[in-house]
Amino acid sequence: MRPIRPGDRGPAVTEIRTVLTGLDLLTPTVPDADEFDTHTERAVRAFQQSRGLSVDGRVGAETWRALDAARWRLGARTLYHAVPEPLTGEDVRSLQERLLEMGYDVGRADAIYGVRTSRAVAQFQREVGLTPDGSCGPHTMNALRRLGRKVVGGRPQWLRESDAIRQSGPTLVGRTVVIDPGHGGTDPGVLVPDGSLRWTEADLVHDLASRLEGRLAASGVRVQLTRGPAPEECLPDVGRAELANSLGADVFISLHVDGHPNPEAEGVATYHYGTDNGVTSATGERLAGLVQREIVARTGLRDCRTHAKAWDLLRLTRMPAVRVEVGYLTSPADRSRLVDPRFRDRVAEAMVAAVQRMYFPVERDVPTGSIDVSELRAVVAAGTVVD
Ligand SMILES: [Zn+2]
Repeated sequence: MRPIRPGDRGPAVTEIRTVLTGLDLLTPTVPDADEFDTHTERAVRAFQQSRGLSVDGRVGAETWRALDAARWRLGARTLYHAVPEPLTGEDVRSLQERLLEMGYDVGRADAIYGVRTSRAVAQFQREVGLTPDGSCGPHTMNALRRLGRKVVGGRPQWLRESDAIRQSGPTLVGRTVVIDPGHGGTDPGVLVPDGSLRWTEADLVHDLASRLEGRLAASGVRVQLTRGPAPEECLPDVGRAELANSLGADVFISLHVDGHPNPEAEGVATYHYGTDNGVTSATGERLAGLVQREIVARTGLRDCRTHAKAWDLLRLTRMPAVRVEVGYLTSPADRSRLVDPRFRDRVAEAMVAAVQRMYFPVERDVPTGSIDVSELRAVVAAGTVVD
C-alpha cells in the first residue's frame, strides 16, 4: 500500500486522526477533518516514536498496523491467547501493565497476548476465584476493575519495589529480614495471668521471633531482631521502622498476638500498608496474603484475613512490611495452641515459606503449605528453585 502522507485527504486520514485524537496526540479541533495537515504529521511522528517505529511522519503498512492495534481500549473485546497469530493491541498493553503493577509476571508489556500473559491472567483468575482459563473477558475485567483501584494509586516506589523483587531471583541467600517482636520492656502487651499458661504477649512474640530467626538464618538470610528478650525500654513503632530502614532490610515482619475482652475472639490476621481510599503497597499486600495463607494452612488457626492499615510501622518502613497478629492470647483455644512450642515452630515455618514464595516468580509459585522448610536450605544451596 502507498503510504498516506502529508497533504493527503479522505476517509483513511479521518480514521488516522480519530485514533491519534483518542491517544491524546492530536487536539480534536475539527472533529471530522479529513486532511493530513502539519498537526497530523506531528502526531504521527510522536506516535511512531512512542512505538519504536521509524519516524517519517507517514502512515505506511507498519504504522497502520500499530495505529489499528492502538484503537483497542481494555474491556472492548475478550482477550485470549490465539495461535498462531496472537492478539495485539493497546488493550493488551494496558492489561499487561495492570498485571505487572499487581506483581504478576507477564514479562515485558509488549502489547502481545502471548503464553506468558495468558499464564499471568490464569494466576490472577485463580487468586480471585474465577475459572483460570487465561482469557480476559467481562468477569475478569470486573475483577481487575475492582482491584485496579488499589494499584492505580500506588506510588511509583511500590512499583519499583515489585520490579526489584521480580528481578532479584528466588534465592534467600544474602537477603536481610528484620523481625520485630512487638512490645517489650515496660510494655508487656496482652497479659493473661492464667496459672501454668501464663505468658505475656511480649515474651511469646520474642520466642516466636527467635524460632523464625533460626530458620531464616539456616536458609542463608541475614536476620536482625528489633529487640532482645528483656529490653529496658519499649522502642516505639517509629524507631522500629527507622531501624529496619537503616539496616536496608528486604522484608520486615512484625509479630504480635491479639487480645479481646470476649474470650471467643480467636484467629490470625495479617496487616499491610494501605489507606481507605485504596492506596496500597502491592508487595506488602502480596507478602501479607502469603503469610496469612501459609499460617492458616499449616496451623488451623481461624482465618481473620488480611487488612490494609496506615500505621506508622507499615507506613514508614521502606520495604515490604507486614504485622501479624498470631491468634488471641485471650482465647482459651488459641492460647492452648500458642503455649505449645511445636505449634510456634509451625508458625515460624509458615512465615519462612511465605518469605520464600514472595521471591518466586508468580508462574513458578507453589501451592500453599507445600514448601518443606527443612529442605529449603539444601535446595537453596544447590542453586535450584523448588518447582
Ligand atoms: Zn501487640
